[in-house]
Amino acid sequence: MAHAEATLDTLYSEVLRRNPGETEFHQAAKEVLESLAPVVTKHPEYVDAAVIRRLCEPERQIIFRVPWQDDNGNVQLNRGFRVEFNSALGPYKGGLRFHPSVYLGIVKFLGFEQIFKNSLTGLPIGGGKGGSDFDPKGRSDGEIMRFCQSFMTELYRHIGEYTDVPAGDIGVGGREIGYLFGQYKRITNRYESGVLTGKGLTWGGSQVRTEATGYGAVFFLDEMLKTRGQSFDGKRVVVSGSGNVAVYATEKVEQLGGTVIACSDSSGYVVDEKGIDLALLKDVKETRRARIDVYAEERGAIFVPGGSVWDVPCDIALPCATQNELDADSADRLIKNGTSYVAEGANMPCTPDAVRLFSDAGVAFAPGKAANAGGVATSALEMQQNASRDSWSFDYTQDRLSDIMRGIHDRCLETADEYGSPGDYVTGANIAGFIRVANAMLALGVV
Ligand code: GLU
Repeated sequence: MAHAEATLDTLYSEVLRRNPGETEFHQAAKEVLESLAPVVTKHPEYVDAAVIRRLCEPERQIIFRVPWQDDNGNVQLNRGFRVEFNSALGPYKGGLRFHPSVYLGIVKFLGFEQIFKNSLTGLPIGGGKGGSDFDPKGRSDGEIMRFCQSFMTELYRHIGEYTDVPAGDIGVGGREIGYLFGQYKRITNRYESGVLTGKGLTWGGSQVRTEATGYGAVFFLDEMLKTRGQSFDGKRVVVSGSGNVAVYATEKVEQLGGTVIACSDSSGYVVDEKGIDLALLKDVKETRRARIDVYAEERGAIFVPGGSVWDVPCDIALPCATQNELDADSADRLIKNGTSYVAEGANMPCTPDAVRLFSDAGVAFAPGKAANAGGVATSALEMQQNASRDSWSFDYTQDRLSDIMRGIHDRCLETADEYGSPGDYVTGANIAGFIRVANAMLALGVV
């Protein structure tokens, strides 16, 4: 084991050296490498064939210029990214993020996580991620469309249903996927439905894809609760964020008998002891694209500007906003307030210190690559429907999603058990995700 740890340390030093300044990527790589010592001890062939080393190096990284014109006729400039990380299990698969914080380090952390997440689903999808430092906030519909068209005018040459299949992430929802698909179709003169997922229902989209990440995280939590002989009944839940993941996580918690009493956006958080009014939240965030204080005002709920939603006492915490939003201080407060379950709806929302505190305190903790895999899993179901020119019902698709989440949950626990860390979802997810992709890489030779 000591030898394995030394080998993994060396591999991590190489990640640091080859990717200077990409702190989020370092964090994501470290978390996975730290879990792999027992695997490397048992299977030295993964090191001999440089599988782990190759996994840490993207197969291809594309960076491109995205010029576009705003409503005043001024030329604006952004940077576009697509990191095609690993295609051992299938075409690269992962979302596009449009947010001013996006740079190569963010795209690589997301792409790296995506490899293991996609592997865990058991479906034939590789890992990739992309996006831009474009800030959609305050932009008109016309500006969003022109930006998406310019972005796709470069991206189209790198993607395809057998190559790379992007979808949404922060800042990219149904509207953006529509503009991106329209431009892809126009440039290529192909109605290639399987080139993007998250499409609208009348043009190749899948039922449940919109809801899938949030629903999936709650299905996963439901399995965690059952493992401990509990249920959502009467549980107080705090969700961070109020975007796509947060909204549909809230919907499913409420359907399963829990109460979501708080949610947030970058301006602050609301506390609504009666339970979040979903119709109003969807109207404020999805239709009016307004700030969360508008919800509080119209609902008569409490709005706390600028505060941390993790101050609100709860049984279950569902971080669904963004990376590193829940730090050690927040974890400490949650633990003191009696929180006993945390599941990551977002990608890497808990800092490594926060995860350590949860684990030391015996809080059941599910990492994003397991708990939020429902989104990409349903994307793979969308690809299946596109390939067979079929479209499935809501109930059938939701049943498939729920089976997939149960499968991931059980695989995490079984793997954690097998490798000597019973009940540890982080170890289970990292090892189970790794082994499937590593075996495919071994079979495919040195490529
Ligand atoms: N962006 C989502 C994720 O983090 C979904 C990706 C997809 O559907 O391809 O998994």
